[in-house]
Amino acid sequence: MKSKNKPSVCPWCGSHRIAIVLGGMPVYIPELEKELADGEKPIADSPSAGNEPSWQCTECGAQFYRDLHLVKNRN
Ligand SMILES: [Zn+2]
Repeated sequence: MKSKNKPSVCPWCGSHRIAIVLGGMPVYIPELEKELADGEKPIADSPSAGNEPSWQCTECGAQFYRDLHLVKNRN
């Protein structure tokens, strides 16, 4: 599925543990989570942005994609 913002809850399993995907690998970093929540650090920095999942549920493995138009606007 596509999402403009990081989903706070997995729509499939209801888990709150949504990991950010960086370089093709899902990572779960509380500090980075906070920065993203504040809207100061777009994930577009990742070379994989727009081509690979940007978030992944750590419980069921569901993957979420960034909205491509939003990435272009931020750049
Ligand atoms: Zn899930």
